Amino acid sequence: MDSLKIDFTLGTSMEINVDLHAHSGYAGGTMSLAKSPENVEKNALSVKKRFEKAEELMKLKGVHLFGTGDCQFLEWQNFLEKELTESEDGIYYYNNNEIQYLLQTELIFTAKKGKRSKQVHTIFLLPNHTISSEMRDLFDKWNVNHEKMARPFLVCETVETVSERVNAILDLDPYIEAIPAHVMTPQGVFGSSVRINSLKEFFGDSAERIHAVETGLSADPYILGLIPELDNKTLLSNSDAHSPALNRMAREFTTLKINRINYKAIIEAIRSNKVVRTFEFPPQEGRYFLTGHRPSRKKPGLHEDDEYCMFSPKYVPKGDICPICNKELTIGVLQRVFEISRAQGSERELGDFVSSSPFVQMVPLIEVILAGLNISTVSSKRANKIYREVVAIFGSEANLWSTTAQKAEEQLDGVKPEIKEAIVEIKKGNFTFKPLGYDGTYGSLTIGETSDFMDINLINHTSKKGAIDQFLSET
Ligand SMILES: [Zn+2]
Ligand SMILES: [Zn+2]
Repeated sequence: MDSLKIDFTLGTSMEINVDLHAHSGYAGGTMSLAKSPENVEKNALSVKKRFEKAEELMKLKGVHLFGTGDCQFLEWQNFLEKELTESEDGIYYYNNNEIQYLLQTELIFTAKKGKRSKQVHTIFLLPNHTISSEMRDLFDKWNVNHEKMARPFLVCETVETVSERVNAILDLDPYIEAIPAHVMTPQGVFGSSVRINSLKEFFGDSAERIHAVETGLSADPYILGLIPELDNKTLLSNSDAHSPALNRMAREFTTLKINRINYKAIIEAIRSNKVVRTFEFPPQEGRYFLTGHRPSRKKPGLHEDDEYCMFSPKYVPKGDICPICNKELTIGVLQRVFEISRAQGSERELGDFVSSSPFVQMVPLIEVILAGLNISTVSSKRANKIYREVVAIFGSEANLWSTTAQKAEEQLDGVKPEIKEAIVEIKKGNFTFKPLGYDGTYGSLTIGETSDFMDINLINHTSKKGAIDQFLSET
């Protein structure tokens, strides 16, 4: 079955899967191609190879439209201009017309908040390459280092400067879209690194021009439903993939309803919240879900190999102080989201506000297969072979996650029993992470059981048990 061809009959609306936040090989992470400019030919070849590998995986994923990532980075822009063809206004394709792209980048704005500097990652969608170049001209005016950094820093002293610069970029074209990225992570607007409680507190007046935010791996519409300010914003989900790997690309994505495929139609669908559903990575797996301290923290003597603590919001010790090392805990997404909710005057509890964005919870299929086989290497040939077998049944991974548990079970009849069981359990929601994600550590998938993330109160510190009991009775 060919899930990727989008057939538009005039006047009928269509559903399209989009992943609007990705990165090129220039953005750092797994491969920083920009580091060896002397090797121009070799670099060009590896850029192309990487791109082709990514596109091959995109087809398996069943996502139709991808953000290019880093679109204003000169070397990458040159590649995109040379290799991609514009099919519709602002929509591009490579070789055949199966996967579509639009120009996208991520900028890091910084502003002083008290004594500290707050960094906020923000996605920008752009209508064409001319605008990318104009944005670079603005960067030159602002002394932004964009020549070496594909994801540049826009260092601003104040919120007013952030606002001015966001406005200046948006003023380049009425269809540029600014979308605060992964809003609950430490590098997101609501994240814990420097705590602020509204979009305006960071973006100033330009906050009024924000129509959508990205849920990120560490939150979903259920959790973001606690924040009143987001009630009338569009919630988008994207992968933020830095490498062409099955467990990274399209690990989150969004289904949009559109009437035609061109850049403006995509932006209008975002602005008028034509989200059919988002596909969400379980927030509990995200690296900053609960508040706590992991074992063996960097500074010597703080935590030994077996010492850690982890708290749901109602159990967080007073002053956010770690009962083991007496330092400030790493504040988790769940605690932050309640803090913001209260700061915005709400008394909502989880589940009180049902977001208008329905969503599907999923775990990247390759991770489910690895868990089913009890192996851990994503590149495992065996796991990848099974991945392709399962995808062949459904047409794409997106189709698997879109179908019901019952239908999936029927269709998976010929598949290895342990893999079939693992997939069906995930589809039924019968899974958890042990431990849950906290203090920079990803949660570890456990299939066949569930847990209540609102009821975690763990302190593992056998050697000073008495001291902790005393600490807790005082707080
Ligand atoms: Zn980011
Ligand atoms: Zn500690």
